[in-house]
Amino acid sequence: MKVLVAAPIHEKAMEVLTKAGFEVIYEEYPDEERLIQLVKDVDAIIVRSKPKVTRRVIESAPKLKVIGRAGVGLDNIDLEAAKERGIKVVNSPGASSRSVAELVFGLLFAVARKIAFADRKMREGIWAKKQCMGIELEGKTIGIVGFGRIGYQVAKIANAFGMKVLLYDPYPNEERAKEVGGKFADLETLLRESDVVTLHVPLVEATYHMINEERLKLMKKTAILINAARGAVVDTNALVKALQEGWISGAGLDVYEEEPLPKDHPLTKFDNVVLTPHIGASTVEAQMRAGVQVAEQIVEILKG
Ligand code: NAD
Repeated sequence: MKVLVAAPIHEKAMEVLTKAGFEVIYEEYPDEERLIQLVKDVDAIIVRSKPKVTRRVIESAPKLKVIGRAGVGLDNIDLEAAKERGIKVVNSPGASSRSVAELVFGLLFAVARKIAFADRKMREGIWAKKQCMGIELEGKTIGIVGFGRIGYQVAKIANAFGMKVLLYDPYPNEERAKEVGGKFADLETLLRESDVVTLHVPLVEATYHMINEERLKLMKKTAILINAARGAVVDTNALVKALQEGWISGAGLDVYEEEPLPKDHPLTKFDNVVLTPHIGASTVEAQMRAGVQVAEQIVEILKG
């Protein structure tokens, strides 16, 4: 059996494949023409968010049985073409949940204690102590919008920090909520009562611009918004307005409607906003888990 690894994956994932006795060929991010040459006799392909596994690629791989995506999104894979040929597509949705949840708190502390702002001032030689009055998290209410894999990890950490946990999800899992001391509320109540609102919903029609002008106005003036889900869950123009007019006190963002975030974007102008370049899943552990989970599924499928 032959597996093409077309994107960098953790060495432990490579080990899973070689230990299973597969011949592994590795080439980082081949373009479509090169990929077409490489897939001619492979049984499986592993990719990340790149390269694209197009219909032409799939049609050039007569032996292909499984496509593995080390990570979550499947936008780079022609799922329709794979389905037509009965090719399985596997991914690793839970691999980065803890990493994203920990980044949420990184962003939250950076906003609540003005860490990024203070650091920028220090580098300019400015001792901005007076401008760096912050807030504690203990006793504050965190509103978690979307109580799935990441929302649950966020709730666990929030609970450990002594925060009150409010949850909103159309499919409430009461047992899990109980485990983290969380209570379900409707979205409007959550927005009104939370000191921190953090978003963990998928981007679908119902969540596109879910956080809009009207909903930002419901939030406390002292509240902090965190978005490490998908950029378009928040209406960016409405958020810029909310920050300009002081409807909320700050924001921590890892995802944007346009990525990479354009240089000199209005969001880069606020001292009370902390921005990271979509690094939620960028940890050694998440990358290792993502690779290993996909490699293990491929072994299972190919070995029947
Ligand atoms: P999940 O599927 O486990 O959880 C999503 C939850 O949202 C589910 O419980 C679902 O019932 C709920 N939901 C669906 N529609 C909703 C709605 N209209 N209102 C409220 N809740 C709703 O997903 P997850 O693994 O927790 O991922 C959540 C988000 O995080 C996704 O958007 C994903 O793309 C994003 N993500 C970001 C990064 C990053 O690097 N920043 C990494 C991984 C995932």
